[in-house]
Amino acid sequence: MAQNIQGDASGQTPVAASAGDDKIRCDACPVMCYIKPGNTGACDRYANRAGELIRVDPHVILDRTLEQGGKVVPFDRGGDWDGRLVADGGTFVTAVGSGTTYPDYKPAPFIVSAQVNGVDMVTVVTEGIFSYAGVKVKIDTDRFLGPEQATVRVAGEPVGHVTTSEYGSQMLSLGGVHHLTGGAKKEGRVTCEALLDLCNAKPVELTVDGGATIIVQAGHAPIVNGGQEERMRVGCGSATIGMFARQWFGKVDEVVVVDDHITGVLSEHQAGKLLGVRDTGIRMKGRRSTPGRYFQVAEPGLGWGGTNISDPLSILGAFDAKAAWPGLRLLLVSTTGEHFGYYVLDENLVPREAEVPADLAPSVERIRENCEPALSSVLFMAGAGGSLRAGVTENPVRLTRSVKEAITRVTCGGAPVYVWPGGGITFMVDVMRVPENAFGYVPTPALVAPIEFTLTLEAYAALGGHMDHVQPVGEILHRDSVREVAPIGDNPWPLATRGQG
Ligand code: SF4
Repeated sequence: MAQNIQGDASGQTPVAASAGDDKIRCDACPVMCYIKPGNTGACDRYANRAGELIRVDPHVILDRTLEQGGKVVPFDRGGDWDGRLVADGGTFVTAVGSGTTYPDYKPAPFIVSAQVNGVDMVTVVTEGIFSYAGVKVKIDTDRFLGPEQATVRVAGEPVGHVTTSEYGSQMLSLGGVHHLTGGAKKEGRVTCEALLDLCNAKPVELTVDGGATIIVQAGHAPIVNGGQEERMRVGCGSATIGMFARQWFGKVDEVVVVDDHITGVLSEHQAGKLLGVRDTGIRMKGRRSTPGRYFQVAEPGLGWGGTNISDPLSILGAFDAKAAWPGLRLLLVSTTGEHFGYYVLDENLVPREAEVPADLAPSVERIRENCEPALSSVLFMAGAGGSLRAGVTENPVRLTRSVKEAITRVTCGGAPVYVWPGGGITFMVDVMRVPENAFGYVPTPALVAPIEFTLTLEAYAALGGHMDHVQPVGEILHRDSVREVAPIGDNPWPLATRGQG
């Protein structure tokens, strides 16, 4: 695939080998592409520019002066730049655009030293190739997206599954080595493309077996079966009763908050009891859990409160004539306030819909107001516990221990990561905290993600680091095709020493 080749951000590796006909061979991953002049390799990350193998994208450097709105000091790549920004630790070399080394016994593309508050620090920078990689997707919606364990597909190919729901959100687990390598070739390719798009915050259409079609884009509202989700519910039905019971007291006799998981009933709920709400003789369908809390009032679906109902009266039985009375006022509402209805019992104790009274309407609005905007969140998750560590140190297990002991800080494009307990370096990062288009792929297939390890120079030497490859940050800044960007949002500064922001 011919590309417009602009960049030159290659580190000391990979080594290009000539194929004898102006093609050069890239050895940055197991694919080992032969690349013609003017073309890129299969991953579009490396290219042959007039016989030179280059990394196409610019190498991203975080610069705190951009964040602070201060005057940006242009890097003088002619050689007389004084290193001021380096001395105060205001520059961080990310792995975005840094390149990859393969096989991993070679040192990482960049091992960068800088002084931070008088301490010599080292950041080891590489674009890791992750076969053990996937995303966890959190979709803020009550709507039923599909049964737990159901297969999630892209273009008909299985790419993951529905996993355990969380509070107000449906969760998907996508990718992973099983889908990348364990199925047919197409499954691996489609999975890799979907992961790449999700990680780079692009929209991806997902279809759940026995469930919904969803368009997911990190940082955007999910679109479920063509409808954009607006609100994340305020809480489960029981919690909603607890939160708003006082606001309903005296204005209505009974409230049912319809929820696929836990439907709440005011008069029976502890909140209603404490307020002295009178027994209403309401009879609910579903399974009573504890007073005022009902499970399985309906099937899951895209209707009220994540159930399949469009008529809320369908979850009520007949009122108990010993307790109910004509004129009893009943509010039925969903956990987002998106659906609501007001009813008054007639002389036969049958609910008749009526206009919501003016003094009751604000409570429904209050539920809506307390809902947060519905978002899709994408967390990239991968294991750096394998051979990637050899690019950092000759004794890889020491890096793992150093990370676990918090001697070495792991970042992904400068963004903070969560490192799982236990063995290896299995980490998660919110893709919204990573510089844009930070993720790539290779057609093995596998995801390419930036990863940086930062520690003191002393600690780096102690864990058997590639000390003869350490270079001052100033040397990186002098190179062409370096792009300085402001740190993202409220990410902690990756070079901050303890107690600093
Ligand atoms: S897929 Fe990319 S990294 Fe791998 S050999 Fe080809 S050009 Fe190099």
